[in-house]
Amino acid sequence: MSVLRAAVDKTEVVARYQAKTRRMKGSDCLWWTGAVSARGHCRLWLGRAGDRGVTVIAHRFPWALEHGAASLLDVPVLGQCYDHPLCQRIWPGHMQASSYLENAREWASRRHTIGAPLRDSRGARGRSQSLRDLLRPAERVGLDHVSFAVASRADLDDAAAKLQARGIEHGEVKELASFGLAILSFSDPDGVHLELTAPLS
Ligand SMILES: [Zn+2]
Repeated sequence: MSVLRAAVDKTEVVARYQAKTRRMKGSDCLWWTGAVSARGHCRLWLGRAGDRGVTVIAHRFPWALEHGAASLLDVPVLGQCYDHPLCQRIWPGHMQASSYLENAREWASRRHTIGAPLRDSRGARGRSQSLRDLLRPAERVGLDHVSFAVASRADLDDAAAKLQARGIEHGEVKELASFGLAILSFSDPDGVHLELTAPLS
């Protein structure tokens, strides 16, 4: 909290935060284009506290800017935008003070709605990353994914079972007949896409 309180007074951090948000034509939301955590939350790097790096769920930052960091002590949860989890706009329906109970109720009521973001099969992180990646095509240079060949389709099923057992999100084993391959895709903790491939025959 003290790091957050100091960060809202630093023009460098405020400028860095603002540079990572963007308005989009046809959307009321304020879109986050920065880092996304394993749970699909926006992460803003605030600085160092001793030898430890401190990040914050990014939408807590504009709230602290607007209402003061101390106000977050009275707001256990910031309700998230109905449209997408990257939204940074402080406005009813986009971001508002909430409680764990209200948030859970809200989540439960929305997750079964057809077409709702929470039913997205990519999961919270996959969805956040896909949305963010759409927003920064210019930054999509460099590594797209790393692929490792394994001996057989059975190895893919085995790997999928191991990922599953460890609670790591992964795709289905998919057969790409035209390439003569089966593939299994997943991501490392930094969000780099990894893929295992096996010959089909
Ligand atoms: Zn929004």
